[in-house]
Amino acid sequence: MKIVDCKTFLMNGVNRNWLFVKVVTDQDVYGWGEGTLELHEHAVEAAVKAMVPRIIGRDPTQIEKLWQAMYRHGFWRGGPVIGSAISAIDQALWDITGKVYGQPVYKLLGGAVRERVRAYTHASDLRGAREKVDEGFTAFKTGGWEVGKGSFREEDGPEALHEKIGAMRKEVGPEVDIMIDNHGRDRASIAIRKIQAIHEFGVLFFEEPTPPDNLDALAQVRAAGGPTDLATGERLYFRWGFKELLQRRLVDVIQPDICHGGGISELRRIASHAEMEYIKVAPHNPNGPVACAASLHLCAAIPNFHILETARDMPWHDKVQKVPLKIKDGYFELPTAPGLGIDLDEAVIKSRPFKPHAYSGSWDERDGSVADV
Ligand SMILES: [Mg+2]
Repeated sequence: MKIVDCKTFLMNGVNRNWLFVKVVTDQDVYGWGEGTLELHEHAVEAAVKAMVPRIIGRDPTQIEKLWQAMYRHGFWRGGPVIGSAISAIDQALWDITGKVYGQPVYKLLGGAVRERVRAYTHASDLRGAREKVDEGFTAFKTGGWEVGKGSFREEDGPEALHEKIGAMRKEVGPEVDIMIDNHGRDRASIAIRKIQAIHEFGVLFFEEPTPPDNLDALAQVRAAGGPTDLATGERLYFRWGFKELLQRRLVDVIQPDICHGGGISELRRIASHAEMEYIKVAPHNPNGPVACAASLHLCAAIPNFHILETARDMPWHDKVQKVPLKIKDGYFELPTAPGLGIDLDEAVIKSRPFKPHAYSGSWDERDGSVADV
């Protein structure tokens, strides 16, 4: 079997544009992958095209050999654009390989170690929290900022977050897990005050307290933040991007994204490294359905899985799948069909062409200076 083509598709999924790849073989078998990188979709599409000469004419079931060729034969390494291109093709190779052997991908990863995969979704306010819990979710994540006003005034942040999370905890009760995403917006001292402010509400984790570029800032939060679990990792790529974070044990939970971190192959390895440090894995997964399916197979197979993000506010997520992934009582069912267990409807993809993002600049500070998104 040989790879004969690798097509790219951009589809507007409302909140973001999804980038799908379809790796086609000479034997009527194809595989889907996803490399959605919001705001940079065209850059990833170009990077996928640059990868194609490294995989064309090769056996798609030699996943590791092709992964190595994509990673090492490009000479330049790392980063979100190359990471997302490799991730997309890697997922498609696993999809093909599963179809060739007639097994779901998690079986090829050593088999499922759990029967279903716990998921969380998002809620920005009390009403949203109530709705998600009523839908059956046992966990949700909310932003560490004020709804409708961008970010809290820095000096008001900790108290305002205390009020927001306190109200949410009261609304949903003690059994529902709440997570907070700080989106890497604060310097260490403010992040520490926020974490201390919400400690009494027992959140599952506090995500991206500080920006992703400087682990020493995260270490400062770690040393002073108290017992609340910390999480980060959606903006780290490949094993080497996680190495120091894991070895220094700066968080309790890592959040690699199967669309950016090197695909199924690399996330399996990153998860094993985390397992050595007794750190759990809660994959970042706000993108499209192929990334979600690939994440599900990974989560089924790794022992240190924590909880999987899912974006349930995008109807096209289900509509573009010929048979949508199933979620019940806040848990995903494991796909049973060979490969990733999903297929996309190309007519639906074509009906939703790429749309430029509209929110650039909306996160500016009150004085007009640039704020982190
Ligand atoms: Mg995040």
